[in-house]
Amino acid sequence: MIAPGRRADVGGVSVPVDHLIGGAWVGSHESFETRSPLAWDDGPLAEVARGDDETARAAVAAAQRGFEEWGAFTVGERAAVLHRLADLIEEHTDEIATVETLDMAFLQESMRQRLVGRGALNFRTYADLIVAHEERAWHAKNMDNVVQHMPAGPAVVITPWNAPFMLATWKLAPALAAGNSVIHKPAEWSPLTAALLAELTLDAGFPPGAYNLVQGIGEEVGAALVADPGVRRITFTGSPATARHIGQAAAENIVPFTAELGGKGPLVVFADGDLGAAAHRAAWQFDDSGQVCLAGTRLLVEESVRDEFLTRFHEHADALVLGDSRDPETQIAPMVHPDHRAAVHGFVERARAAGDTIVRGGRPLEGSLHYEPTLIEPTSNDSEVVQQEIFGPVLTFQTFADEDEAIELANSTAYGLSAIVFTGSRERAERVGRAIRAGLVWVNTFLVRDLTAPFGGCGISGIGREGGDHALEFHSDLKTLMIADDTCN
Ligand code: NAD
Repeated sequence: MIAPGRRADVGGVSVPVDHLIGGAWVGSHESFETRSPLAWDDGPLAEVARGDDETARAAVAAAQRGFEEWGAFTVGERAAVLHRLADLIEEHTDEIATVETLDMAFLQESMRQRLVGRGALNFRTYADLIVAHEERAWHAKNMDNVVQHMPAGPAVVITPWNAPFMLATWKLAPALAAGNSVIHKPAEWSPLTAALLAELTLDAGFPPGAYNLVQGIGEEVGAALVADPGVRRITFTGSPATARHIGQAAAENIVPFTAELGGKGPLVVFADGDLGAAAHRAAWQFDDSGQVCLAGTRLLVEESVRDEFLTRFHEHADALVLGDSRDPETQIAPMVHPDHRAAVHGFVERARAAGDTIVRGGRPLEGSLHYEPTLIEPTSNDSEVVQQEIFGPVLTFQTFADEDEAIELANSTAYGLSAIVFTGSRERAERVGRAIRAGLVWVNTFLVRDLTAPFGGCGISGIGREGGDHALEFHSDLKTLMIADDTCN
C-alpha cells in the first residue's frame, strides 16, 4: 500500500493525489499517471491513486456512514454547507484554473472567467433550490396527504474528462442538496481538479463520509462502485458505451441511474436567419477542440444561402487562434490525449477513403496535440462522420431545400442531446424547435441555460433529466404520507 499524504506540484499548485474516504486521505496499492496535453512528452504531471475493489467497498461503507449524518441535516444546514463550499471554490479560482489547464488543456482564461464561477454557482443554485423546495400537501379522501422527499442514500457520481471541474459540480450539487452522500469518480484523463474540490469540502462543514472521492480507472474502480449494492443512486456523464455497462450494474441492484451521454447536434441555418451570426456560431463549434457534447457538429444550411454561408464560415474559421491554453490569446486548445486525437483522425481518414469531401483541415498539427479545425461535406447522410459522435474539431456540412427536409435531417441520427437553429421567424422558431427531437434546442443563441431548466438527451444521448428540481427528484425517494381525519389529537 502506498502511504497516504502524497501530493503533486502542478504548476505551483499542491494537489492531493489520494482518495478521500470518510473524511481522510487514503492511499492505494497502485497508481496511474496523468499527463499534460500541453507538454505530453515531459512525462507524468502526477501519479494518482488507482482505486480497486477494496477502495470501492471502503468508499461505499464510508458513504453509508456519512449519509446517516448528512441526510439528517436540515435543509437550511445543508444549504449553508453548500454555500460555504461555493465560497471556497471562488476563493481558489486561480488554483483550480491552473490545474484544469495543465491537466486537460482547458483554456485558462475561460476557466478563470467562466467555468470555476459556474462550478460555484451550481452549488449555490442547489442550496437555494433545496431551501425553497416545498412539500406538496393536500386534503382528499378524508385524509391529509403529504409528499415527502427522502434522501435516497449514497450516490455514485461518475464524470468525463471534458470540462471536468464544471461537470462534476453540476452533478455533485443536486445529490448533496437532496441529502445524499456522494462518491465521486472522475475520469482518469483529468483527475486533478476533482482532488482540489474534494480538499475544499474538508473545510466546508460536511460530516465525514458525506463527500468521498475515489480515483482510478473506469473499468476497475468505476465498475466496482456502480456494482456495489450499498449504492442507492448512480449519476453518470460520459459515452453511450460506458452507460450500457453501468445500466446493467444498476439493473442488477435495482438502482435508479441517470446518463448524460454523447451528442451529434444539428446547427440549422435558414435563409431568413442572421447569416453572419450563424456562420460565426458555426465556426465556434470548434471551441474546446470540439470536445463538447452539446456542440452543433452537423451544419445544415438552406441551399439558397450555401455559398454566402460558407464564405463567412471560412472567414471566421481562418481567424481562430490555435495555441497553448495558458496564453490568453489562444482560442482553440490542444486535444486532451494523443489516443483521442488519433481516434478523431481515424474518422476523418475513413471519411476521406469513403469519398466524402474534406473541405478544410483534416490533419493533426505537428508539435502540439491540436487537430486542424475540419469541415467535411459527406457523400450521404449515412456517412459515419454524420451519424457518429466524433468529439473533436470536425464538423459536417449539408444543405436542405425546405423546412421539412431540415427537420428530417436534424432528426436523422440516433442521438438527441441538443440542436441550434438560426431563423428570423418566430413562427418557424416555434415550429422547428418543437419538431426537433432533442433535450435542448437553442434558437439564435447557444450554451446559455437557466440552471433550473431541465437538461438531458433523447435517444442514445441519455436517460433522465438533470437541472433544477428534476435532479432533486432523481436523488430523492418520494413518500406519500396519509393521515386519516379525526383520528389524532
Ligand atoms: P467515458 O464513458 O469513456 O468515461 C466517462 C467516465 O466513466 C470516466 O470517469 C470513466 O473512468 C468512467 N468509466 C468508464 N468505464 C466505466 C465502467 N465500466 N464503470 C464505471 N465507470 C466507468 O467517456 P469520456 O470519454 O470520459 O467522455 C466523453 C463522452 O462524454 C462523450 O461521449 C461526450 O459526449 C460525453 N459527455 C456528455 C455530456 C452530457 O452532458 N450529455 C457532457 C460531457 C461529456
